[in-house]
Amino acid sequence: MKIHEYQSRQILADARIPVPPGEVVESVEQAVAAYRRIQRASPQGSGRVVVKAQTFAGGRGKAGFVKLCDGEAQVAQAARFMLSNRMVSKQTGPAGVTVRKLLLASAVDIDHEYYVGLVVDRARSCPVMMVSRQGGVEIEETAARDPQAIVKQWLHPHLGLQPFQATRLAYELGFTQKEPLGAVSQILLKLAEVFGRCDASLAEINPLVRTKDGQILAIDAKMTLDDNALFRHPELAEMRDLSEENPNELRAKEHDLSYIALDGNIGCLVNGAGLAMATMDIIKLYGGEPANFLDVGGSVTREGATEAFRIILADPKVRGVLVNIFGGIAKCDTIAAALIAAAQEVGFRVPVVVRLEGTNVQQARQMLQKADIPGLIPADDLTDAARKVCSAAV
Ligand code: GDP
Ligand code: MN
Repeated sequence: MKIHEYQSRQILADARIPVPPGEVVESVEQAVAAYRRIQRASPQGSGRVVVKAQTFAGGRGKAGFVKLCDGEAQVAQAARFMLSNRMVSKQTGPAGVTVRKLLLASAVDIDHEYYVGLVVDRARSCPVMMVSRQGGVEIEETAARDPQAIVKQWLHPHLGLQPFQATRLAYELGFTQKEPLGAVSQILLKLAEVFGRCDASLAEINPLVRTKDGQILAIDAKMTLDDNALFRHPELAEMRDLSEENPNELRAKEHDLSYIALDGNIGCLVNGAGLAMATMDIIKLYGGEPANFLDVGGSVTREGATEAFRIILADPKVRGVLVNIFGGIAKCDTIAAALIAAAQEVGFRVPVVVRLEGTNVQQARQMLQKADIPGLIPADDLTDAARKVCSAAV
């Protein structure tokens, strides 16, 4: 589960990592009011604030959705721009995303930007902390061009980041004096502690900055939480922002279907994750592009299959569907009944190629033949099915 920057900042602030104060708003008027409150709270401050779009996608700075503002007029202008234009960044795809919330935070005078992040290293089965002196909006390019610029320490799965590791990383960041070496090490230890305690799969501060007056502050924060551990964290589960998630993926989750929307035009309905991957591969082999990954599960029911069809056909990009079922626990005749029901309830607006194999396949084929569903194309095997759906979906 992804959460917003302002939520991640709160988690960091609660762990006593220094974060500049800020407020979340949803309209231009609220932005101006928040700006006035921030001014009143620190009358001796610079008066400058930063207005930041709250989206799960990163790359906001380069997209023009992080703006430094002096005065009410600039705040209003930045807020109006961000709330009325879709944000297109490297991470959003060409269609971009709608911005519904903004964070207003006191701006800081930056002397240097550092990168600090934790992810799970699947190959080594433990978390890894990565730091770089070259933090900021170019971190991806830096990592690709100059991997040496990223320094890593792997964490013991139970003991977490050790103080000597934190000191070494802070030293690698260029902090060689006792202060702020100590302050930076403390921030790294706290971040690692938060990562473990929240069951995060990603926790990132980019940039962690040294200000002109020598403070160390986190001015951007990103966290992803492990869905499978959310039951242990009801207070974190409440942070879920449904408006930022794909509505079809949410619907699928409600029906225990594993569904991930993709960019192609061939919808896939498959039982079993491995078979779903193989189905996507063979579609690509025959020149098609899958519109989704969809695993209806080993013991698919008529209701589940019908809902799966609804979700696939709700995607306007879909020009053809490939149903690929291996009847093991699920029996082919159950699937055939589900297909017939789905055809009646949902209606097939595009060609649906069906490949069934396994338990009770003969009965299933007879049922489908008898039902004579318009748009349904039977296939002999997976290769035949992939060819047929690729030529039908044009
Ligand atoms: P991202 O592009 O989505 O990662 O958004 P960030 O929050 O990291 O902001 C992008 C960039 O804006 C940072 O790398 C900074 O260079 C700049 N920035 C953000 N906040 C401030 C601030 O308070 N003061 C100054 N001077 N620059 C800031
Ligand atoms: Mn950032």
